[in-house]
Amino acid sequence: MATVPESTDAVVRAVDVTRRYGGSDGGLFSRGGERAPVTALDGVSMHAAPGEFLGLSGPSGSGKSTLLHLLATLDTPTDGTVELLGTDAASLSDRQRTSLRLDHVGVVFQRFHLLPTLSARANVALPLVEQGVGKRTRRDRAAELLEQVGLDDRLDHRPGELSGGEQQRVAVARALVTDPDLLVADEPTGELDTDAGEVVLELLDDVATDRAVVVASHDEQAIGATDRVVELRDGRVVSDG
Ligand code: ADP
Repeated sequence: MATVPESTDAVVRAVDVTRRYGGSDGGLFSRGGERAPVTALDGVSMHAAPGEFLGLSGPSGSGKSTLLHLLATLDTPTDGTVELLGTDAASLSDRQRTSLRLDHVGVVFQRFHLLPTLSARANVALPLVEQGVGKRTRRDRAAELLEQVGLDDRLDHRPGELSGGEQQRVAVARALVTDPDLLVADEPTGELDTDAGEVVLELLDDVATDRAVVVASHDEQAIGATDRVVELRDGRVVSDG
């Protein structure tokens, strides 16, 4: 895990961030010129510190996913800056940004996004393949992470042979296998029942040690589990604390 630069106590920081979709930006997410542009985020500033389990709350369409994608450097803002470990993600080339993300960010999605033909262990090891880590280390590290999430007896199971809660724990293990400084999760309990959701939330709380964990959700159970909540409405922060 990288040391957080002394100039900032945040793992990730958004400063006056605006994200518009469509209109004249012509970007990948543009939905064509006919439609009016959508301002998904409008002057958002927030941060997540090491050891923090942070919630992003707000109704559907308030901008939670958009902000989470920006924090994870999966996207760049239209205006303003997002700094990950003190680096402005937009100042990097696509390749540099991918490398920064691979080394420092883990991402968990609502629908798990596991590869169905691979075992739990192989799914967890995938980010290490991208990092060029050797096979033996990958296998050992993936087994270690699956043990950490309580699935050491499921190493060779494929996703289809696991419950939704178990699949999400595999996805958390995969997101942690590179020992990231930032873990982001978009509606991680959205597909789970209350009990399975609770297990995943406890796990996310446990791993918010010297890293930051940011969960976007409109679910009270998920938001209630976090230490601090940034609430969004219509793309603006309406409360932080
Ligand atoms: P939330 O996660 O809180 O539901 P989102 O960040 O998904 O909110 O969306 C915020 C706003 O941006 C919504 O009005 C949504 O319709 C719009 N939006 C999100 N993604 C896109 C996109 N790729 N293209 C155009 N508009 C989008």
